[in-house]
Amino acid sequence: MPGHLDWIKDELAALEREHLRRFLRRLESPQGPEIMLDGRRVLNFCSNDYLGLAGDRRVIAAAQTATKRWGAGAGASRLIAGNLGIFAELEAALARLKGYPAALLLGSGYQANLGLIPALADRGDLILSDRLNHASLIDGCRLSRAETRIFEHLDLQHLERELQRAGNSRRRLIVVESLYSMDGDLFPLPDLIGLAKKYNAITYVDEAHATGTLGPTGRGALEHFGRGPEVDVLMGTLGKALGSFGAFVCASREMLDYFINRARSFIFATGLPPAAAGAALEAVKILEHGPELREALIKNVRRLREGFQRLGWSVPKDEVPIFPVRVGDPQEALQKAERWLAQGVFVQAIRPPTVPVGSSRLRITVRADHRPEHLEALLGALDFKK
Ligand code: PMP
Repeated sequence: MPGHLDWIKDELAALEREHLRRFLRRLESPQGPEIMLDGRRVLNFCSNDYLGLAGDRRVIAAAQTATKRWGAGAGASRLIAGNLGIFAELEAALARLKGYPAALLLGSGYQANLGLIPALADRGDLILSDRLNHASLIDGCRLSRAETRIFEHLDLQHLERELQRAGNSRRRLIVVESLYSMDGDLFPLPDLIGLAKKYNAITYVDEAHATGTLGPTGRGALEHFGRGPEVDVLMGTLGKALGSFGAFVCASREMLDYFINRARSFIFATGLPPAAAGAALEAVKILEHGPELREALIKNVRRLREGFQRLGWSVPKDEVPIFPVRVGDPQEALQKAERWLAQGVFVQAIRPPTVPVGSSRLRITVRADHRPEHLEALLGALDFKK
């Protein structure tokens, strides 16, 4: 490589030394409870395909039908010539699912957070952001140019103190996730809604991991807490429990009109591939049709919780499909993941900067279509060598 790029080798070597270098593993099969990984059949305990919809034949068929009807790509941004009819259909279904007046699709969750947050806050505004927010939320805050203050994870008292000293900021925006993907804990949304009202702040909630997993029918965190559409901006993704790709935001029609005019990652990006929209639409219909999948997921969550507790491991407070096994040291997390993989159980080590320094972990996720013997195999691997 030419000399002016020598630093890349050095950077990679530094990551390697710190056990923070990342590699791509290759799947030779579709997403599922069992996958072919680097040439071996293994049990998959680290996807976000919580309901098994990415490989569901109805969802796949809907993607094929949408491609035939609408083509392979949107061909343009939606404000130019790419606003395909299927997008309005999917937006109506998502709004219905979430109990909001309307929804707007965006390219991906990362893209959504990168565009929506800067549309809501700018210089002179104040953002209050939970310490463990996802990278895309952090980057959205950075891009906004608003002053961003971090409050301790789920710490409402700290959040309130920051709201009290918000000074003469023009707008106040509180940014949180409803279900934290690396910890499996929930932000107490009823308290958030109350505080925001008291201090005249805008609420922004990322439902990436809550959609399809929380609430008796999988509608998300608001259903879980028995609340209506009381969050100002509710963002979600199509690439996790809904088995597809893309993102959406639910809000008032006026707010969505505003995003169409001001969210740069919406304005300047091509519309979703029709296959992704068709697949997500079918996934929403499956969720609306009945709670069976979500109930199958919760059954597995309960089985695993019991198994974890039997082994003396701690579990998240709520019944969520995420089980973090905290290790601390990145090298140890990698070694543990390798040991489990040797036994046919695939769980990724999660290291900084995905999680804070000193909190490396293995993040186990359970799916609706894991069979009892899959769960037993996982617990066997956990028991093998702590
Ligand atoms: N928000 C959260 C909380 C996430 O976990 C993720 C995905 N890891 C995203 C946003 C980004 O979503 P996407 O993968 O659709 O870009």
